[in-house]
Amino acid sequence: MPRSRITVVLSQAPGKHPVKRSLEESIVAALIMEPDLEVSVVPNLYDLGPDHTGRLFLGSVKGDMVVLSWLYPRAAFWLLDRNDIKGHFGETKLKPPSDDDDSEAENDTPVDKPEAIGPTGEIPDRHIYTLDLRDSNKYEAFVTEIRRIAVECGERREAAARAKAVNSPAILQLGLSLNKPEPEPLAAFSPEALLAPAGRRWYPVIDYSRCTNCLECLDFCLFGVYGVDSLERIITENQDQCKKGCPACSRVCPQQAIIFPEYKSPAIAGAETGVVGGLKIDLSRLFGGDVGDALSAAVQERDRELVNDGRSAVGATIGIPKRQESKPQQPKDDLDKLVDDLDNLGL
Ligand code: SF4
Ligand code: SF4
Repeated sequence: MPRSRITVVLSQAPGKHPVKRSLEESIVAALIMEPDLEVSVVPNLYDLGPDHTGRLFLGSVKGDMVVLSWLYPRAAFWLLDRNDIKGHFGETKLKPPSDDDDSEAENDTPVDKPEAIGPTGEIPDRHIYTLDLRDSNKYEAFVTEIRRIAVECGERREAAARAKAVNSPAILQLGLSLNKPEPEPLAAFSPEALLAPAGRRWYPVIDYSRCTNCLECLDFCLFGVYGVDSLERIITENQDQCKKGCPACSRVCPQQAIIFPEYKSPAIAGAETGVVGGLKIDLSRLFGGDVGDALSAAVQERDRELVNDGRSAVGATIGIPKRQESKPQQPKDDLDKLVDDLDNLGL
């Protein structure tokens, strides 16, 4: 079976949790001697600033890559994307335990998926697999999955090379290899520099496979975190202006596209809930009389941060109502109905 040379990067848990460290060390020890794997360890991915050596190293990897972290796969993938570390999403066979308790998702109702804007720029011809270290407490499970991925990448590269050869027989006649090895990552990264401490951070990560560029988040956040790029696409412009512990805008996003990878609720931290349009989940709770509905929670969280900043609370008067007013006339959807109901409640 062909195996492709791939890079494996393990993102450590923040803190020094002994059980987590032990699992991390066992995985690295099992993989480090495998000839076609390049294994490195960096601090918690979410905390890496743009100048951290671990972040620079990740950016230098050109080929297929496996990233193991204590984050949901979707969160880790889009976290890398926002750092310009791009590739196609690699599907892992490693899944969370079936008894995973995702309380925010248990009442989910599948809904039609609106068209997402997708990632910015060109996606390089490589795959990035993001494995969640919480999916098993046995290091062998990760080692087996990484070996499977190496084979999958090798087969994919061989198939691509064969297809290229069919279209370019002249190249084959010249005896040139079409399946060139990927360039090695830069050699200038010492393990000590890779593992230099990184301070804790807190900011939103946008999942562009879900984001429809509705700009609700831009209107809702009053702390200047969001902006738009030259193509008028939503971006996190000033991510470190986000208020630590505040996940408010993720509750407002109609597509559940805003992830806070370290928030306690799996739905907000990037767990796959099997639905798009998470607000519907919260709507059912609101209309069922649950006081903890998403929108009122978001409004309260934003007000709390405004007051902490010495500013005035604004309630539900800024953001969502404005966005709803600007919508063209169309049959009322659940979001419209929610806003009307909140207005009637005087929120
Ligand atoms: S609210 Fe969500 S879907 Fe809308 S622009 Fe922001 S991230 Fe994208
Ligand atoms: S979590 Fe709060 S402060 Fe951070 S971007 Fe969202 S609304 Fe703004």
